[in-house]
This record gives sequence, structure tokens and C-alpha cells, in this order.
Amino acid sequence: MPETDTTVQDNQILEEAKKRRTFAIISHPDAGKTTLTEKLLLYGGAIHEAGSIRQRKAARYAASDWMAIEKERGISVTSSVLRFEKDGIKYNLLDTPGHKDFSEDTLRTLVAADSGLMVIDVAKGVEEQTEKLFEVCKLRQVPVITFVNKCDRPGMDPLEVLSNVENRLGIEAIPASWPVGYGRKFQGIYDLIGKELHLYRKSKHGAQKAETEVFSSLEEGLAESTLSEPEKEDLTEEILLIEDMFENMDREGFKKGEVSPVFFGSALNNFGLDVFLKYFQDLAPSPQPYNDSEEHEHNLNEPFSGFVFKLQANMNPDHRDCAAFVRITSGKFERGLEATHAGTGKKVRMSTPHTLMGDERNIMEEAYPGDIVSLFSPGFFRIGSTLYSDNPVKFNVIPLFTPEHFMKVSTKDPFKRKQLREGLKQLSEEGVVHVFEVPQGVGNELLLGTVGVLQFDVVTHRMSAEYGVELHQQPVSYHAARWLPNESEDIIKKLENNYSTHITKDMEGNPIVLFESGYALNQAEEKVGAENLFKYKQD
Ligand code: GDP
Repeated sequence: MPETDTTVQDNQILEEAKKRRTFAIISHPDAGKTTLTEKLLLYGGAIHEAGSIRQRKAARYAASDWMAIEKERGISVTSSVLRFEKDGIKYNLLDTPGHKDFSEDTLRTLVAADSGLMVIDVAKGVEEQTEKLFEVCKLRQVPVITFVNKCDRPGMDPLEVLSNVENRLGIEAIPASWPVGYGRKFQGIYDLIGKELHLYRKSKHGAQKAETEVFSSLEEGLAESTLSEPEKEDLTEEILLIEDMFENMDREGFKKGEVSPVFFGSALNNFGLDVFLKYFQDLAPSPQPYNDSEEHEHNLNEPFSGFVFKLQANMNPDHRDCAAFVRITSGKFERGLEATHAGTGKKVRMSTPHTLMGDERNIMEEAYPGDIVSLFSPGFFRIGSTLYSDNPVKFNVIPLFTPEHFMKVSTKDPFKRKQLREGLKQLSEEGVVHVFEVPQGVGNELLLGTVGVLQFDVVTHRMSAEYGVELHQQPVSYHAARWLPNESEDIIKKLENNYSTHITKDMEGNPIVLFESGYALNQAEEKVGAENLFKYKQD
């Protein structure tokens, strides 16, 4: 039977999807995310000399004035997608916003990724932000691949690092490569999968790939190293103990994020990156189908669909525009394609799709599952909005994350009460901040909840610039929050009479409970069951 056009198109979509790897880096500030990103681009052939991302970042601050905060603080609130291609594989690295500006955007970006690359500092092990980001990967059951960075510095020995990862995250850590020498003596990597030893020579400032000598026998390689005889013996023994672990790794556990293969190296010196990239291509999954709101798998070769995971307003203050970042979940995207917005049924022509490389925008003519396109948002896009071309579908993939920082805000000007509510409602719909009624509060005040403290600054700035409302901030002493199930009358009754527990609702009517202390939270968990108090809520 001859192949129909549809089959050819379907196959093309699946083939294209297979070539893609869409991933995000999860790490704590200073672990080396920027350095590693740059080196991935260097090894991926996207740049020829490392150093340019930082330069580009610096140049961007000078050139961009989309938001005063960005400049003032010298940080980037922007996230973008870095694309590079190596050996026929197209990588989409979702560049999550940096460090101190940790926010919900960072968490949401992970929902658009098919895998996480966890970067940890060999001296520090798993740190707080890594833990938070990891939780999102766990929630979504996406694979996490670990890169232990800064092995050229004094730190834990590799076995300690593995147990640190296991203890902090409750997963199994399986070595895939192993350092040859630690700290100052770090000089190579034993590839536990390919059973080869790589010895490296540093390049100046790590700007170029490291010169590498590859040995197919451990013994021969070690003979060329500068390790002492006892060190060689220890290493050989260690490797004997661990060399089969990767081969026997629980692949299903890995796919669900319960087992993580671990690579060692130094991003700064370009040590171990060749080994890492060689296997990353196979380990990182190609785009996976997402479940629709009815929990049915939405196949990759269905007609075009995607969801908005990030909205970025006011990139250009002259135009007051808003960019929507869309993760393609199925089908072929073509420039000019007309899509339907699942929430409102409104039609949008997707005529300005961009792919962002650092700050350079390139118009995108076509894209496939796993790709991210940035569209001009027509105003009714929300975080989590679904777009589709032919077959109606709705995704419900972005959970409500639990706010961890709270602030009471009000306006002193009685004439601005309406603007206060309207502005904050708008910002909450855009996903900038969670907005709640203040428990036992009065009309001109609202409670803000965020994942990162910088979100407060963004809100204050935008309320002033866009709604003419100067926010008066007042700290509050909430320690933690948990979302409640939709039908939660019974639970609310049980929690109501505890004076350090407060129940309220966000602007969409989602019930949430606020705790003044860890003790109050523990008590509530005992009373109503931890399974009824959600850290992440999906409608
Ligand atoms: P980020 O905050 O996670 O993006 O971390 P950066 O990539 O900015 O790195 C933080 C600091 O660690 C910088 O001074 C880097 O030069 C340094 N660094 C990154 N990778 C390595 C490494 O492999 N070895 C050493 N010694 N320093 C590194």
C-alpha cells in the first residue's frame, strides 16, 4: 500500500522529535552552571571559544533596558533557550534564570524539559536550590543526569559524593565516569561505560577544548598519569568495585528520575566533558508525549499543539509587548500557522515565532516537538495555556508551586484600591506572583506569595510602572503554605481552630493554608494527613 501524505508527515514528525534533546540545568548558585553551559556550547560546536556567553551577558545589560531591575542588580530575569547541534542531535538547553533571582519561572521551565542535568560542586554536594529544582523533576518523573563539577578543587571523594546525592535526594546515584586523581592531582576521567581512560592537558583559561589522550586499557593509562603507585592501586581497586554498576543500572528507575547516572569533571578546565557529552545524547530522552488534562497521552505526531510555560512582559518598554514561550508537545509548527487558544477558543496566527540564542532572536520557520518557540502574546495567554491547530486538546501540566515567601501589600491611596486588585490579579494570572486574600484582612490589602524573593521586586516595579500603584509592603510571619484539595470543607473544619494556622484563597479561588511555624505544619499533617496538604497542586 502506498504511503499517504499523512503517514509521511507523521513519520517526519517522529523522526524530527527523535533528534531533539530538551533539557534544563538544575544547580545551586556557583556550582558552575554558566561555565558548563558555555562548555557544552564549545563542545557542541555552537561557539569556538569559551567566554562569549559571559561577554554576551555583559553586553546585554548594556543594551537592554527592558526592566530597570535587571540593570540595577546586574542579573537576568530573562530565560531563553540555547540551541546547539552535535552529531545530528539538536539540543534545546532551557536556560533557567540565574541564581539569587530564583523564582517560579525557574521551576516552571523544568516542566518544559524532558530531562534535568544536575550540576553539583564536588566540595559542597547537593545544595538547597538543587534540592528544590530536583523536586520538580521528581514530581514529573523525568530523568536526571548528574555532573559533579570542580573536581580540580579539594572536595569530597567520589564515593562520598555519591552517598551525598543518595542521602539528600533519596535516589540511587550510579557512577558513569570516575575521576583520576582528586583536587590538584585531578588529571583524567575513567569512562566506566566505554572502559577507556582519558588523560587531559589544560588549555589556557579553558577557552579551547582540552587536549586529550585516550587509553583503552586502564593500566596503560595509569602508567602515563602522575599518580603515585599507592594512588594507582587505590584507584584500580575502586574501579573494580564500581565498574559494573552502570551496566546494571535500573533503566526504568532512571527514566522515572529515581536513579541518576553520575559523571565527574571540571567545566572550567574542560576535563570530562567529552565523556559526558558522548553519553548524554543517549541518556537524555528525546521529547516525550505529555498527558492531556484527562490524563491521556497526547501523541507526538498529532497535529500541532503546545503549552505556554513562561510569559515575559515588557521586554521592550516602548511596545509594552509580552512574549510567550511555548513548548511544542506535538506536530509540526510552521510560521503563520493558525492556532486555537484552548482556554478561550480564540484564534491566533503564530506569525512571529522566535528562537532565542542568548539575546539574539532568530525567526523560526518550522519547529517540532521538544522545540521552544517564543510568540507575541495577544493578552489572553496565561501560564499553562494550551495552543492547538486541529485536534482540540488541553494540557494541565504546570502545577501551582508552593509559595515560600510572603508579604502583605496595601495602598495608602484609597482611590487606588481598585487598581491594586486589578493589577495584582493580572500579575497573578501572568504567573508573576501568587495573590491571596489576607486572612482576617481588610479591603485595601492583599497577601503576596512567591517562590523567590526577587518576585516581590518585580511586582512592586510593575505595579508602579503599569498600574500607577505604589505598594506599601509589610512583612508577615508565615513560615510555610500548602494547597488544599478543591473540595476541602472537612479539612478546613479540622484546621480552623488552630491559631497559628490560617486558611485563605488565591484570586482563582484555590484554597491554601498558611502556617506560622514548622510545628503548626507538622500538627496539621498529623490532623488531616500529609496527602491532603499539597506542595504542588495540579487542578
Ligand atoms: P553558576 O553560578 O552556577 O552559573 O556558576 P559559574 O559557572 O558562574 O561558576 C562559579 C565560579 O566557579 C566561577 O568563578 C567559575 O570560574 C568557577 N568554576 C566553574 N567551574 C569550575 C571548575 O570546574 N573548577 C574550578 N576550580 N572552578 C570552577
